Amino acid sequence: MLTRGFLAASLILLGLCAVGGVIFLAGSHREIPGLLLLSETSRGNQARSAERATTSLQASAENALPSEKLNLPILVYHIVRPRYPSDDRAVRAIALTPGTFDAQMKYLRTAGYHVVPFRDLEAYFRTGAPLPSKPIILSFDDGWSDQFAYAFPILVKYHYPATFFVFTNVIGRRGFLSWDELCQLLAAGMTIGDHTRSHPYLTDITNRAALWDEIEGSKKTLEKHLGVTINEFAYPFGAYNPAIRALVKKAGYRSARGDYFSGEQAANRLYDLSAMNAPTTTALFEKKF
Ligand SMILES: [Zn+2]
Repeated sequence: MLTRGFLAASLILLGLCAVGGVIFLAGSHREIPGLLLLSETSRGNQARSAERATTSLQASAENALPSEKLNLPILVYHIVRPRYPSDDRAVRAIALTPGTFDAQMKYLRTAGYHVVPFRDLEAYFRTGAPLPSKPIILSFDDGWSDQFAYAFPILVKYHYPATFFVFTNVIGRRGFLSWDELCQLLAAGMTIGDHTRSHPYLTDITNRAALWDEIEGSKKTLEKHLGVTINEFAYPFGAYNPAIRALVKKAGYRSARGDYFSGEQAANRLYDLSAMNAPTTTALFEKKF
């Protein structure tokens, strides 16, 4: 649920972002290039396998925080828009129509879920701040402009605060969110998260300065343009390792989203939060949740 705190924060944002209110709905029928999404799903599986082998070791090495477990699903959405005849199987595997997305959001309400932002999860583990019953997090990846045109109005309708993970190199390019749209998302109580500068496989980057720029440089760019502190990070393709997680922490992020799915979060795993791609049909969604 959107809180008064969100709205107050939103008002402060208006000055920095220089936008006014939650006006949108001018969604055009644009086609989204699918390359990024294709590679994200296929190579993401490899990264996941590698990650699984190391995460248990990492968890035991990070025992500064209590290892309390919390049942809190984090959903990842990529494409919400009407279907195009040209959509191939890979796109259809992660695309939802606005109608399906609306039905899923409606289901969350009737099933008693409470949509919370990442910062509530972070506060729960860091300070013991209470969470509502059946908390769930909604996130959107890669900054596609269709998310603004089709998912954003539905999120506003249900008063659900979602997080949009964007990578800075494409902001304002055709098919991607503009700075003005990002400001409008913030003004409506949404969160903007960091998804690097160029959406690389971070695990493939050997130059430390380049890696730091992807992780910390992109954060600075977002903060400079949006006038807010960017606290959440999502690893592109779900590819990361202990060294990358340490850099994300060092850069000042308060949590980072991984992509293995257990539905369970833990205080000592704030930098590899469990997340899953949202089911693309309402029936699957209701079965899962
Ligand atoms: Zn991505």
